[in-house]
Amino acid sequence: MAYNPYENAQAQFDTVADSINLEQSARDLLREPMKEFHFNIPVKMDDGTTKVYRAYRIKHNDARGPAKGGLRFHPHETADTVRALSMWMTWKTAVVDIPLGGGKGGVVCDPRLMSLGEQERLCRGFVRQSYGQLGEVVDVAAPDVMTNAQHMLWMMDEYETMTGGRHPGMITGKPVGMGGSLGRTEATGYGVIFVLKEMLDSENIDIKNTTASIQGFGNVGEYTALKYSQFGGKIITVACYSPSDNNTYTFRKKTGCDVKELVSIKDSYGSIDKEKALALGYEVLPGDDWLKEDVDILIPAALENQITPEVFPSISKSVRVLCEAANGPTTPDSDDLIKERGLLLLPDFLTNAGGVTCSYFEQVQSNMNYFWPLAEVLEKLEFSMTNAFRAVYNLAKERNLYMRDAAYVIAINRVYDAIKQRGWI
Ligand code: NAD
Repeated sequence: MAYNPYENAQAQFDTVADSINLEQSARDLLREPMKEFHFNIPVKMDDGTTKVYRAYRIKHNDARGPAKGGLRFHPHETADTVRALSMWMTWKTAVVDIPLGGGKGGVVCDPRLMSLGEQERLCRGFVRQSYGQLGEVVDVAAPDVMTNAQHMLWMMDEYETMTGGRHPGMITGKPVGMGGSLGRTEATGYGVIFVLKEMLDSENIDIKNTTASIQGFGNVGEYTALKYSQFGGKIITVACYSPSDNNTYTFRKKTGCDVKELVSIKDSYGSIDKEKALALGYEVLPGDDWLKEDVDILIPAALENQITPEVFPSISKSVRVLCEAANGPTTPDSDDLIKERGLLLLPDFLTNAGGVTCSYFEQVQSNMNYFWPLAEVLEKLEFSMTNAFRAVYNLAKERNLYMRDAAYVIAINRVYDAIKQRGWI
């Protein structure tokens, strides 16, 4: 069955809107993006030809502050994926209570097949084509799937060239020393584990006695794995994609994966080298096997629509926690199965909000042109993430709500208050 992430995002919204009796005008406004930009970016390729790339920048809602959200480079990017992600950004910034709205962007391209010069021209073209729709008080992009700090810096440079000023707050995820914040690279993954640790503590589970299986070893997967193992958890498997044969693999070490060792044999896109992994004593198994492992915690940290009713029965009975680090990794029709099985759920837009929280810190620092030490950034991050978790967890307990629904109730109510107070409805 093919899942449409936008339909998933709307279905999740509709369920909660029904449960809180959200008024019709608010539903009409919030179940779709407010503004969408679809454009083509012509790029001069190294061989002298010109390729035209389809791009999207979508603002779901900016009632609580400028739109904020990542920009993805992916060959299978679609407008609906970007719509869904922009909507989840609105809930994400609201659930961690930072004064920003929700936006997202995507370019249909495969940067793995492009030279650095071609990528730079694509980034500059993105800014030229969407000029007027970007900026620190309008819409602030950030790195996401297959985009990085260098891409953000090229975009900032193009924007500053066009405006003739310095606008480091127009984009986040920049390199440290060039307007970036210390801690941004690790923020999403660390945030995942701050939230996970808080949930395990609340449930009287010692993280040191837990095992986990992670899908994805890119930015989020790597730092999730690192912080989890620093807290004493044991990672049994890590799954990722292999561009060399267009396949996915699960890397397993029953005695526990050594995160730094795996980092040393992965490429910059989060693909682990199979031969080197075998040489280091890892088993190399089919891509879906990460789900079947007898662990306590599953952490999808790769792509959307990975936990579906089709694969759900293959999840090991030992799993107690589903910690959604990726955006939209679980399809809505799996929620009932999660409830039936009694899994503890950490919903995506709460769990992976560490990235946008630190992006917000970066924007504040960029706007002030005054940068904080790493310890201060991480302390503020942990404070924001654990506070957000507490609010969701307490509401779920008080009203006997599913964790995803509790997170939505908090987020939707905050956005509703903003559109109401502004007089939009
Ligand atoms: P990334 O591109 O750095 O890494 C993606 C990882 O997923 C890679 O290891 C890749 O090999 C793996 N992967 C891709 N397709 C796969 C498949 N079919 N099966 C198994 N593994 C596969 O991306 P990222 O920045 O780590 O983002 C991962 C997820 O987290 C995405 O859903 C993204 O939207 C979300 N997210 C990212 C951030 C951030 O700050 N980077 C913040 C919030 C949410």
